[in-house]
Amino acid sequence: MMDRVSVVGAYDLHVHSAPCVYPRLADDLTIAEAARDAGLRGLVFKSHHEATVGRAAAVNAALTRQNPAPFTAYGSVTLNHALGGINPAAVEAALKTGARVVWLPTVDSQGHVDVFGHSGSWDVQGAEFHAQRPAPLTILAQDALTPQVKAILSLCQEHDVALATGHLGKAEVVALARFARQQRFERLVITHPLFRVPGFQPEELPELVASGVFFEFTYCALAPMWRHTTVEDTVTAIRAIGVEHAYLSSDGGQTHNPMPHEGLRLLAQMCLEKGLSLANVRMLIEDTPARLIGAQPN
Ligand SMILES: [Zn+2]
Repeated sequence: MMDRVSVVGAYDLHVHSAPCVYPRLADDLTIAEAARDAGLRGLVFKSHHEATVGRAAAVNAALTRQNPAPFTAYGSVTLNHALGGINPAAVEAALKTGARVVWLPTVDSQGHVDVFGHSGSWDVQGAEFHAQRPAPLTILAQDALTPQVKAILSLCQEHDVALATGHLGKAEVVALARFARQQRFERLVITHPLFRVPGFQPEELPELVASGVFFEFTYCALAPMWRHTTVEDTVTAIRAIGVEHAYLSSDGGQTHNPMPHEGLRLLAQMCLEKGLSLANVRMLIEDTPARLIGAQPN
């Protein structure tokens, strides 16, 4: 009989919640409580428009008052226009207040515009903006990495915090992975590589593998409203790069997706049913994400 994957002990490093400029399934505390009740040990809140460290701290304070179950919400920062773009000062402030993941630009990146035709939103997640939008964000100037992104990588290195590629385009991801390897940076995350941005094929990923490079595979990328990839390609990609370089997250919180912890469970269970071992799946949802954010593995 097929095993069932439990999310007890798991971490979800990519969770969207309200308040947000996009419609969300539930607020921070509701999503965190549901994850804790399902047995997760922690999650990282991600907003495309603000640092979530304060929100994570408020959730932890509320949860500690309720219940001593071991669960921690962590904050992150995403470098879109609302925070001044690829802005080392925003990163430093977030790191000093406890952010565990720094995301390079997502909805305001040049890579996002190249795929979806405009910044700020995309096909299944709309928002209207009236403020003047600066030019789309890129980490390359004449094919070289900008001083800003190099400064951000070294801030992450100093703080032992993960740096994730967000919605950078392929060429940017390749350039950043090369620089991270030169710098011996140990926590580079290639965000949903099979999503339409950056849009890698599974067979293109092995050349990016190096010590300290991790590939994040999300439930949302293959959810019915998104369908940027398939379970089969996700498993093929994980096998191609080696399971120790991968982890799973939900990227959940959209109104048309299940609660994030359930999205994580679905993805983990589908990977198992498509041939990954239970031990491998546990590494993908527990050991590797815990290590990336410096949480104590269970
Ligand atoms: Zn996301």
